[in-house]
Amino acid sequence: MPPSPSSHPAVAKYAEHINPAFVKLLGAFGYGRVFVRAKGTTLWDHEGREYLDFLAGFGAHNLGHNHPKLRAHMATFLADDVPNLVHVGPPVHAAELAAELARRAGPLTMCLFSCTGAEAVEAALKLARAATGRKTLVYCKNGYHGLNLGTLSTSGIPRMRELFEPLLPACQEVPFGDLDALDEALGKTRAAAFLVEPIQAEGGMIVPPKGYLRAAQELCRKRGALLLLDEVQTGLGRTGSLFACEAEGFFPDVLVLGKALGGGMVPISATLTTKDLCQRAFGTAERFDLHGSTYAGNAFACRTAGAILAILNEEGLVRASREKGERMLHALRDRIGKHPLVREVRGRGLFAGIELGPTEKGGLLHRALPGLVEAVSRRIFGQWLSVRLLEHGIVAQPASQQWNVLKLEPPLTVTDAEIDRVVDRIGALLDEYRDVAPIVRDATERLGKQFAGGWRFG
Ligand code: PLP
Repeated sequence: MPPSPSSHPAVAKYAEHINPAFVKLLGAFGYGRVFVRAKGTTLWDHEGREYLDFLAGFGAHNLGHNHPKLRAHMATFLADDVPNLVHVGPPVHAAELAAELARRAGPLTMCLFSCTGAEAVEAALKLARAATGRKTLVYCKNGYHGLNLGTLSTSGIPRMRELFEPLLPACQEVPFGDLDALDEALGKTRAAAFLVEPIQAEGGMIVPPKGYLRAAQELCRKRGALLLLDEVQTGLGRTGSLFACEAEGFFPDVLVLGKALGGGMVPISATLTTKDLCQRAFGTAERFDLHGSTYAGNAFACRTAGAILAILNEEGLVRASREKGERMLHALRDRIGKHPLVREVRGRGLFAGIELGPTEKGGLLHRALPGLVEAVSRRIFGQWLSVRLLEHGIVAQPASQQWNVLKLEPPLTVTDAEIDRVVDRIGALLDEYRDVAPIVRDATERLGKQFAGGWRFG
């Protein structure tokens, strides 16, 4: 059974003042622990238990926790009398970081800064409408781009959207990976832009067919629309290249970065685009201030992000992600690829997804009640495995919108031994089960009370 929720005082305060429903759910899942220390890939809870972090703050902690060089950079900044925000005159550190990003991003030499991934996607949507003078925004079914009203309008996940409708008009959904549907939507609507992730992360670690993004860009060009690539989760080395689009040898019209740009330490995100598009969107005295926010481009965040880019480079972490990622995927496929409850192991770089659920080889219950088993396993499998891993000192989560897909995205500084330990543990846990019935029983025992209380899962 799950451990009882933590006795740490933060639990009650969090429930009292921030999010009681979340705390209740954490308790039900057995996640009721409070993490108080972190170094590299390791986390410690308040009772001294040690964990390997294969979630890395949803991929933000590319350098691991409290990287000594990054900490030193941040401490130096704080020891100086640098103005963090002035808003009169060009901010020095924003200019320097934008130039560093431009050096790495091919034709995308212009940059809008924001604080979160969603805000940076929002900036891309505004830029597309402003630069093209068109309205329609085409987006993908199952895509996730954040929780602002604009980004929700272009996210293809009904559960997240429904309560907030009506959302932005002139947004059109197409299936991910389907070029014919994209061509039709772009043609019919005279679209301003197509917004897409290189790999659908929260939607279940879905890797599109090879060449899809490049072909999508050609369609966009043909139809006069812009390709907006959301690399909030895949950017800065996660998939084994600095940007995931490099694997297809192209740059989009707009590329969005978030999470890892701040290394899990500072909220910063960026919307990169070409000079021409930036000029068309915001390049006049009437338009120069149509996008921005108070903290966008603040000195501390920009200096920190600049140090992160430098450390990624100095420590060869993009190459490490490629090599260690291959090793991790290979080891996972070797260890669990043929397990009857594993449908697929997929991903790129240190960005892996394990899709769980009975295959045809599954057991009696599956053969007797395939619909029920499918529905239950979609809702609980990934959470169940996450809880079991947590009990064995490993932090990992399912994709937030597809709970039967366990995501593994450790810091890029992860060691081979840490990868081996996690792969072995996942293998050992799954080895205890060849059939779905005992997992459903175990998971519903843990979650039964919450089902009774009317929770919705997935
Ligand atoms: N885009 C993608 C691809 C994401 O994965 C996320 C967050 O998970 C976002 C945008 C939103 O980022 P944030 O949570 O920083 O607003």
